[in-house]
Amino acid sequence: MKFNTKTIHGGQILDPAYNSVMTPIYQTSTYAQSSPGKHKGYTYSRTHNPTRTNLENSIASLENGKYGLAFSSGLAATDALLKTLNPGDEVISTIDLYGGSYRLFKTIFQKYDIKFHFVNMEDIKNIEDKITKNTRLIWIETPTNPMMNIIDIKSLAKLSKKNKILLCVDNTFASPYLQRPLELGADIIIHSATKYIAGHSDVIIGAIVINNKRLYERLSFIQNASGATPGPMDSFLTLRGIKTLHLRMQRHSENAKKIAYFLKRNPKIGKVYWPGFSDHTNHKIAKKQMKDFGGIVSFIPKQSNFKTAKKITENLKLFTVAVSLGGVESLCCHPASMTHASISPEDRKKSGLVDSLLRLSIGIEDVDDLIDDLKQAIG
Ligand SMILES: *Cc1c(COP(=O)(O)O)cnc(C)c1O
Repeated sequence: MKFNTKTIHGGQILDPAYNSVMTPIYQTSTYAQSSPGKHKGYTYSRTHNPTRTNLENSIASLENGKYGLAFSSGLAATDALLKTLNPGDEVISTIDLYGGSYRLFKTIFQKYDIKFHFVNMEDIKNIEDKITKNTRLIWIETPTNPMMNIIDIKSLAKLSKKNKILLCVDNTFASPYLQRPLELGADIIIHSATKYIAGHSDVIIGAIVINNKRLYERLSFIQNASGATPGPMDSFLTLRGIKTLHLRMQRHSENAKKIAYFLKRNPKIGKVYWPGFSDHTNHKIAKKQMKDFGGIVSFIPKQSNFKTAKKITENLKLFTVAVSLGGVESLCCHPASMTHASISPEDRKKSGLVDSLLRLSIGIEDVDDLIDDLKQAIG
């Protein structure tokens, strides 16, 4: 089945009760047993729920993976994965990581004696330097948030395999339409499905996709034992969002391209971060591992100070100033004070995240209206 067909049908089981075409919302906590222990595979909705099952199979199908697991948020999925580690284990991650993942690593899991190294992964050698006999996991995001750096998944998968380390890719920014890390050799995919996968800014939800059966069973155990599972309504909304994922991603990418070039040509803009530019450091890798360059564009005004950036956000009329991304509407975020405020100013500086940087999540509106709005806001 091709990707565009999978968004509609992938992994879906027609509901056996009445053959309803859409997955029903099984708004129930428990299931009748005909005799103690005799049931149809569903006993309690923390453990399994038919609406969630269809969602889990759908996301696994999109990523071309064997197993999918849904969680109540992207961070709940991350939390479950980190719970497979033991005290003394080490994780290598990127310096420009999603702020919430960084906070979870540093303030929660570090306390349980799991050690985290944050390195610049544009050069793979930096990672090799940090590998020890205790390294269990390499955790990456690509494109990174908000600097839009690209990490070479295939090369990293080779390195991690050689050292018997698991490679996890947070695929939130690309979505499986643009990039499928398991096909490139990664072991684990994490999603904040809140973003592009659900796509309508109306649900908080997360997912993990893997091929390894043993790890799946362990994660499935943690999913039930820790209990951060999504409800049936949120699972349904995500399934409904997925049906247009391919159409939305195509438009997000087209609009973002036009906006990236508009910003690049604007004399009041200093620097634009978008992996589609041929002079982007890792443009060639982006071209190789992604179908297109996605819907996120970050930029710095020429007058690179917080005041100028703030003025632009205040002038915007069509773009909404808000955290999050990946919805049908265009958003503008100021990472230093919003999504990445939990990262210290020193660590932010290391990754180039200056206080004047703005991140745009380009929606699927008419691109001319979006450009007009940016034009008047930049002045
Ligand atoms: C939003 C986000 C997360 C966290 O997901 P939630 O659904 O908000 O818990 C993780 N990684 C990236 C890249 C994100 O953008």
